[in-house]
Order: sequence, then structure tokens, then C-alpha cells
Amino acid sequence: MKVAIVGAAGRMGGRLIHAVLEAEGLELTGAIERAGHPQIGLDAGLVAGAGELGVTISADLATTMIEADVLLDFTFPDVTLKNLAVCAELGKMLVSGSTGFTPEQRNEAEKFAEKIPVVLAPNMSVGVNACFKLLKEAAKILGDDFDVEIVELHHNKKKDSPSGTAVRMGEVVADQLGRDYNQVANFHREGICGERGHAEIGMQTVRGGDIVGEHTVYFIGMGERIEISHRAMSRDMFARGATRACKWLSGKAPGIYDMQDVLELK
Ligand code: NAD
Repeated sequence: MKVAIVGAAGRMGGRLIHAVLEAEGLELTGAIERAGHPQIGLDAGLVAGAGELGVTISADLATTMIEADVLLDFTFPDVTLKNLAVCAELGKMLVSGSTGFTPEQRNEAEKFAEKIPVVLAPNMSVGVNACFKLLKEAAKILGDDFDVEIVELHHNKKKDSPSGTAVRMGEVVADQLGRDYNQVANFHREGICGERGHAEIGMQTVRGGDIVGEHTVYFIGMGERIEISHRAMSRDMFARGATRACKWLSGKAPGIYDMQDVLELK
């Protein structure tokens, strides 16, 4: 399976290049960056510290995708939507880990996915996806008797807050408890803001240094507390999840899939 990577010179792009090289059955045929990026024209392997690969970083997505079967995209929602348009036009698959989609952007992505199979997953880690399953079970058992609070920590370069993963965790718990996440998520407490609402799900973010990503969901009851935590030690596990998603996507019908589909956790 021939893979092109967009955002190839980014933090995740570099790890994706290593993961594609390590994955059996995958071959890196293209590397794309935004027009004007200083590393356009350089060898993608050398930029990623993976040795020379003979794959030059280009800004021309459409030409690069002629050879590739699937586009691996860890960029930003507005960029991903443009990439989806190109892939839908050419009939190529897309796996994206971009985070921070608005509901409108998600709807737009769904339209492109009527033509091609797409994996959109705000967190490609196998461990985090196991946590989603555990959270559903915990919420089912604990019900309305426990207050739910979510705390996430990330590096100081992260652009979106709370993380896509924290939002997904909030949605999983809210859905199981029969609540609307958008109604019950509370992102801010300051001053005399009153007692905690019973149904609310507190969403707190911490930003600093080089933290790859940590999430804890607290289920806080009377006299006891359950914490479900995931700590990412390196970006490689996201990249490995993404290569697994590429392989799984081959031969699937058009539509949007997530990592729960890829890992068959549904
Ligand atoms: P980054 O800023 O290091 O890399 C993004 C890259 O995209 C940059 O190199 C940038 O030049 C490139 N880019 C921007 N606009 C472009 C365009 N129009 N065309 C081509 N390339 C373009 O960011 P990062 O830390 O690698 O994260 C990238 C995305 O992946 C973010 O949305 C982040 O939240 C997400 N992320 C997802 C997961 C997951 O498991 N799903 C894990 C980590 C990061």
C-alpha cells in the first residue's frame, strides 16, 4: 500500500515517516508540506532523521497523490478539508489525526466521505481507544451518583483546548449518562460561581513544556473516587495507530470511520 504524508516536516509528520518505514506492507511514496515551507525540496527521510529515502517534500498534493493509495494527514481541520477535497476527486483514501474540528467542519468532511473511505480520529493511540471503552463501562456502572471531571495536560505548542481526546472522553461519558456533552461541559470556574451542577462535566486543561499528552477522567463519589488515566510517553504510538488505520481502511466502503472501528471495539 502506497502512502503519502502531509505535514511531513511537522512533529507528527516525522514520527509518521518512521512508522510507515517500520510497517509491513506500507511504502512511503510522497511527502507534502505547505507552500513556502523551508523544507520543500529536501528529502523527507533526512528531515525526519530516518536516512535518505528518495522522497522529496513537495507542496503539490494532487500530483503526489496520483501515485499514492492513501494520504496520512496530521495537520489542522481547515487543511484536512482541502486535502479531503483532493482525495475525493482522485478516489484516494485518507487517514487524518487532525484535531479541533467544529461540527460544521465535521459535516463537510462527511460529504467528502460519501466518495472515499476516511478514518478521522482525534487520538490514534490504541491505549486511549481502550480508555474510551473503559469509560463507557465505568459510566454505565457508576451512573448519576458520581461527579465527572476531566483534566488533560499537553505541551506548550498545542493550539486547541481542550484536546480532541478530552472532548471525546467527555462525549463518551455524557452519551452513556444520557446527557448532551455540549450542554453539560463546563470549561471555566472562577470567583463565586456557585455549587457544581450535578450533571456537569468539568473540562480542565494544563499546558506546558514538552508533555506529549495526558488525560485523566475522575468519577468522584461520596467517600470514593475512580480515576481512569492515560499517559503518552512519545508520539510514536499515535503514528503506529495511524499506520494500523491505513492497513485496515484498504477495501472499505466510503464513509467516515474512527479508531473504535479500526480496533473493532464497537
Ligand atoms: P505541527 O505544527 O508540528 O505539524 C503540522 C504540520 O502541518 C506542519 O509541518 C505544517 O507546516 C503543516 N501544514 C500546515 N498547513 C499545511 C498545508 N496547507 N499543507 C501541507 N502541510 C501543512 O503539529 P503536530 O504536533 O504534528 O500536530 C498536527 C496535528 O495532529 C494537530 O491537529 C494535532 O492536534 C494532531 N495530533 C493528533 C494526534 C492523534 O492521535 N490523532 C496525535 C498528535 C497530534
